[in-house]
Amino acid sequence: MTGPKPLMRDVPANELAPLLQRLGQPVYRARQLALWLHRAHALDWETLSDLPRDLRVRLADLYDLQGLFPGERLTAEDGTRKFLFRLRDGAAVESVIIPMENHLTFCLSSQVGCAMACRFCATARGGLARDLTAAEIQEQVVHLARDLAAQPPPGFGARGFNLVFMGMGEPLDNWEQVSAALNVFTAPDGWGLSPRRVTISTSGHREGLLQLLRLPQAVGLTLSVNAASPDLRRRLMPVSARTPLPQLLELAEKYARRIQRKVTLGYVLIGGVNDNLSEARALAALAARRPFKINLIPLNRLDDDRLSPPGADQVLAFQRVLLEAGLQAYIRVSGGQEIAAACGQLRQRRQSPTPSVAGSAPGEGDLPAKQGDLTD
Ligand code: SAH
Repeated sequence: MTGPKPLMRDVPANELAPLLQRLGQPVYRARQLALWLHRAHALDWETLSDLPRDLRVRLADLYDLQGLFPGERLTAEDGTRKFLFRLRDGAAVESVIIPMENHLTFCLSSQVGCAMACRFCATARGGLARDLTAAEIQEQVVHLARDLAAQPPPGFGARGFNLVFMGMGEPLDNWEQVSAALNVFTAPDGWGLSPRRVTISTSGHREGLLQLLRLPQAVGLTLSVNAASPDLRRRLMPVSARTPLPQLLELAEKYARRIQRKVTLGYVLIGGVNDNLSEARALAALAARRPFKINLIPLNRLDDDRLSPPGADQVLAFQRVLLEAGLQAYIRVSGGQEIAAACGQLRQRRQSPTPSVAGSAPGEGDLPAKQGDLTD
């Protein structure tokens, strides 16, 4: 499926020491290697200068260090940077750096394409090509961090970054690999990130949320709601046939209590479709007095689609209904529009005849509207 060799970053942290021992190395080499992988952002075996040369050659024989190859890189006026990465099998994924008020957000993909078929989302168009491996998920962060180091955005200094799984794919449908990547992101020997800095975004189904409830790390959660009434939600998001929204919200509430942080309900506003005030009232009724806050995201128009965002007045009126119900509700303005930073437009425009897996066309990148501060 992927290249001929496994990727080095797909070897779990606790298997590095036994692996190096089998290669006749002392145990401390495992920590050295982990530092190269997760702190020094190594992509080339030659650069691992404190490992003996013959070890580097042995490792290079067994593993690939690089699984993502930077293709297009676009920068928007607001500082949003969008990346298209080519994978070893020719598939492509998108990742984005989004400058926020006081930190940077890295928006990551979890799959090539997506099987969820949401009506308004560009990634859905191509269906699911394949899951990303944990290494391919991690390596997006490696490339984005390297890009920042090479060209620090003015005024951002050494500020940290948050990770959000709002790129291509449904993270809860590739949970084994996503949770393996989360282990690396949060491990002291890995990236050492606080789980609070990581957010999973999901279109939501019961099994997925049950898996998430068992995750030891208290990562943030965004549930993509997008409609409160069942029929409309089913039309926009076919996955909702699997688990009705009230049940999803119950699981989300349980999760919020477990991590002791509010869960964000994402709501993409589509003009004349889900932006009417009765839908706002239905959403308010479902969410009020519960550990939720709401992000309203005016639709990012797809090139060839007749769906469009509502006018500003309607967005504000929708928000007002939620605020009057005592809810926290924020409007998130899309960033990087001129570089097609949202929702797979870049991938859609640049679609080249890449090989596809599982009989479907390669998916388009799916990137969210610029999301606001994801902590409470
Ligand atoms: N599958 C996951 C993560 C990827 S989608 C999920 O559904 O949450 C990430 C976010 O982008 C979701 O909140 C989704 O509703 C939003 N999104 C998708 N298409 C969009 C579009 N055209 N305009 C604005 N936001 C969009």
